[in-house]
Amino acid sequence: MYNSIQGGHIEVICGPMFSGKSEELIRRLRRAIIARQRVQVFKPGIDSRYADDEVVSHSDNRLSATSVASPSQLIEQTHYRTEVVGIDEAQFFGPELVGVCERLANRGVRVIVAGLDLDWRGEPFHPMPELLAVAEMVTKSQAVCMVCGHPAAFSQKLSGEAVQVELGSSERYEARCRRHFEPEERRQLELLRAREEARRVPTRDDDSPVA
Ligand code: ADP
Ligand code: MG
Repeated sequence: MYNSIQGGHIEVICGPMFSGKSEELIRRLRRAIIARQRVQVFKPGIDSRYADDEVVSHSDNRLSATSVASPSQLIEQTHYRTEVVGIDEAQFFGPELVGVCERLANRGVRVIVAGLDLDWRGEPFHPMPELLAVAEMVTKSQAVCMVCGHPAAFSQKLSGEAVQVELGSSERYEARCRRHFEPEERRQLELLRAREEARRVPTRDDDSPVA
């Protein structure tokens, strides 16, 4: 299906964490390699969770990749003969990525982009919405809700800071369906606990060993 489009175009694979975005990206790129197309794979330098020079899925599927600091570095490093460009964790690249993908597609490259469409608050993770709008093909993958087992479209943050970008895997995030996604509840509990902790006046009991 995806190879039936002639010439350059943009394909986007989006969805929550653990939904199989990287697996699907790797699958499409492997098929292009089997078809003897010239393929280059990029990921943002920020994402060094598993390896600097590979795209890695949670199921440990791997493909060699080049880490780049910015979309302009990505296009600079794309060889003029490259036919397929794969990009993982696109949400970390910022707004410049949209124009870069369009330039590549306009010069005949098949661009396959994978990234989170929502952040842990359930807000659109830019530049994914803009990329979805300019793409010829969009795949939205779903994970499995870790509470009920139904299809999951959200990434629940289990611990950590209240910033949009915080790397982590199953120790910090899990997939949830709409019913079980609680964007703020845990954060509020954490803040409450921290405030209570700060209010507590140390007493002699604090020094005694825990029973
Ligand atoms: P993504 O790139 O979307 O974060 P990956 O492609 O890296 O996802 O990983 C998908 C794999 O993660 C699945 O094939 C499965 O082995 C594993 N996995 C772990 N937790 C879940 C979950 N809650 N739902 C679906 N797959 C999960
Ligand atoms: Mg991934």
